[in-house]
Amino acid sequence: MKKDLKELSGAELEALLGEFGQPRWRAEEIRRWIYSKGAPDFDSMTSLPLALRERLAGEFVLFAPAVSGRERAGDGTVKLCLSLQDEAPCETVLIAGEGRFTQCLSSQSGCPLGCTFCQTGRLGLRRSLTASEIADQWLTARRELGEEERITNLVYMGMGESLLNYDALRESVEIFTAPWGADISPRRITVSTAGIVPGIDRMGKEMPPVNLAVSLNAPEDDLRDRLMPVNRKYPLADLIASLRRYPAGRKPLTIEYVLLGGTNDSPAMARKLAKLLRGLRCKVNLIPFNPHSGLPFSPPEERAIQRFQDILKRSGYTAPVRRSKGAEVAAACGQLGTDQR
Ligand code: SF4
Repeated sequence: MKKDLKELSGAELEALLGEFGQPRWRAEEIRRWIYSKGAPDFDSMTSLPLALRERLAGEFVLFAPAVSGRERAGDGTVKLCLSLQDEAPCETVLIAGEGRFTQCLSSQSGCPLGCTFCQTGRLGLRRSLTASEIADQWLTARRELGEEERITNLVYMGMGESLLNYDALRESVEIFTAPWGADISPRRITVSTAGIVPGIDRMGKEMPPVNLAVSLNAPEDDLRDRLMPVNRKYPLADLIASLRRYPAGRKPLTIEYVLLGGTNDSPAMARKLAKLLRGLRCKVNLIPFNPHSGLPFSPPEERAIQRFQDILKRSGYTAPVRRSKGAEVAAACGQLGTDQR
């Protein structure tokens, strides 16, 4: 099987072109054809010498994942199920806004972290995705949407824990922010994590100023251990300390809190959460749980949502209630992978 040229890093592509007797700057030219102009094959790259196009086509392909499923919910949200080269499943969701979309990207096929309220966690990890497989989700979605519909924001909140796939995450962010790539501002990109402390530290030091979201879901270790087993490795004190170290000057952090009826939605939990986050520059997104078959949780009552929000607001936090879109096509928060089981 021929290799996908997109799997080469920038440095590897430059080295290859050197072997072909070509200048290094052609690497950027080729990546511009792939990502900015959406060229489907080497033949379309008309600014390249014909002999180079033929040589590339003789040794490489430009792989495009097959779309094995596409569903559009009544609220405009689109879920795409993609089949990768080895047929590992991968899902991406386009969340409809006014005249634009936010794309929710997967960083892994499945997820190893096993959060108990999440459908993807039940799949386990098939494998991590490469940077080009992450970028392929965007290329595919752009082709599917057509000219009038634009993707303006990216969130790494699909399948997987992106900070456990750090190198691919960083390389894909480079593709999305580069002028030869998607040319999207880092401020329109959000990386979400379940709380991988060394990854948060690396992000703060190495990455352009993308936004950071942390899926917290409990203000005390006992409960968080049960909801998110990763908490046993990186308990709340360590996680919050890493957030306090995270460089200021970026946008405020987002704390994601899935409200589970009767589990983490009491006024006492809200007060503990407010205390835990004191002094952190953050907003708290409250996400009422989406019921999925087989998961032992229920949605919160409206009264409980209101009470929880009021306590956070009185403590000085911005705490919007985010109703997940796309629930009817299993595209909502925590539902990815529903069709893969
Ligand atoms: S919530 Fe995120 S980190 Fe947890 S199992 Fe689901 S995909 Fe993985």
